[in-house]
Amino acid sequence: MTEIHVTNPATGEIIASLPVDNPETVSQKARYARDAQKIWAHTPLSERLRLMQVFRLKLTEQQEALARLLSEEVGKPIRQSRNELNGFLQRFDYFQDQITAVLAEEEVYTELGLSETITQEPLGLVANISAWNYPWLVGCNVFIPALLTGNTVLYKPSEFSSLTGLAMARLFQEAGFPEHVFEPVIGGRETGEALLEEDLDGLFFTGSYGTGTAIATQLAGRLLRVGMELGGKDPLYICEDVDIAATAAAAADGAFYNNGQSCCAVERIYVHKQIYQAFVEAFVENVKNFVVGDPLAETTYIGALTRGQAAISTLRAQVKDACAKGARLLCGGEHLMREGAFFAPTVLADTNHGMVLMREESFGPVIGIQPVYQDEEAVTLMNDTPYGLTASVYTPDRARARKILSQMQTGTVYWNCCDRVSPHLPWSGRGHSGLGATLSKLGIQAFVQPKAWHWRG
Ligand code: NAD
Repeated sequence: MTEIHVTNPATGEIIASLPVDNPETVSQKARYARDAQKIWAHTPLSERLRLMQVFRLKLTEQQEALARLLSEEVGKPIRQSRNELNGFLQRFDYFQDQITAVLAEEEVYTELGLSETITQEPLGLVANISAWNYPWLVGCNVFIPALLTGNTVLYKPSEFSSLTGLAMARLFQEAGFPEHVFEPVIGGRETGEALLEEDLDGLFFTGSYGTGTAIATQLAGRLLRVGMELGGKDPLYICEDVDIAATAAAAADGAFYNNGQSCCAVERIYVHKQIYQAFVEAFVENVKNFVVGDPLAETTYIGALTRGQAAISTLRAQVKDACAKGARLLCGGEHLMREGAFFAPTVLADTNHGMVLMREESFGPVIGIQPVYQDEEAVTLMNDTPYGLTASVYTPDRARARKILSQMQTGTVYWNCCDRVSPHLPWSGRGHSGLGATLSKLGIQAFVQPKAWHWRG
């Protein structure tokens, strides 16, 4: 494969053809980025911060065009593309604010004639293999702190968001970053595999569990820093004491925002039996009101499925399996008969854990709802998954929520909210959901290595 075709998933139209990096060009980029790192590591932090501010300015000047490009490339509704870029800026600002303190030399011990200090040094050359569902947000988690801490980055965007990846590289160039400090690598699986063959000091991956394990297999025997943000099957539990209308609206948004293509999208819902029927009705009402259509239209809430037919086949199979095993299909259930890859927002009730829908990541606009009789049952079901990204509970009772959430085997828990990420908090998955953490101070420390200094004299 020498070219990659970028297709608009809402129309099926090819909007660009790009040359793909092969092992030779990947090696050349890795060499350039390795050389550039030696200089970048010694560029004063004040200069790195200054360049970042120019990058920020360039981005804000082009924000609307970048949002449109993202919508055209991945099928995301335009308002959600704008939200993503605003979210990028929020995370970006957090890293700028924290970096000086995290990199400051720390004196940890003194005695007569002796001082012990710690400094933080960059890892060196890091690769970032990324996903398409939030290219700006998940990219920001990695390449902004990586660059700020003095690493150079080989950035491989998903083959479904290559134009956005190239736009990021162009912004760094326009901002005046030295050449090869941020080097885009274009292509799919084979290009990713070639990248892993390079002499890297760190590999930061965002994508599916399956690819994560393939990467771990390829890296076996090599000692380099690895971070992985992988998939989820995130549960939400609704207790009987909630405001049903408000909770149904929040849960529907948590499940269907970005067409359900969020790592922390609500993927399964458990509802206390006492309010089950009323909740399901209110939930379906919300879902039926979602506007599906042209990602560039201001009113659209559900856009096109980025992965096209492959995504439709997965969703269709999950719906078929659930219906065959006794689930009630309350709305949706099929792709839409129009050009592009659209799937009707789908709600299935009376689900159980014998159904694929409740066990494997859907990553699309399909949700299963299951009744539960008590909190203990909800806790058991919520933990019945190899994934461990997020879990949420809705109840006005904080103590009850704490008891439930403290039993979750997940990196993030939510009380009366869901599907949200904060730059101040570590973003980490357990089990099949990942390794290490991004965001927060931990997400800066992920890109440095400590040096211990013993000063006598
Ligand atoms: P994917 O695993 O298909 O691809 C991710 C990246 O890996 C792409 O750039 C792809 O080209 C590359 N790749 C594929 N095979 C490779 C290989 N063998 N070696 C090296 N690189 C390879 O995932 P996707 O479809 O892009 O993203 C969706 C997945 O990402 C979902 O599972 C979602 O939950 C997860 N995700 C997780 C987070 C998080 O923060 N935990 C965030 C976003 C997405």
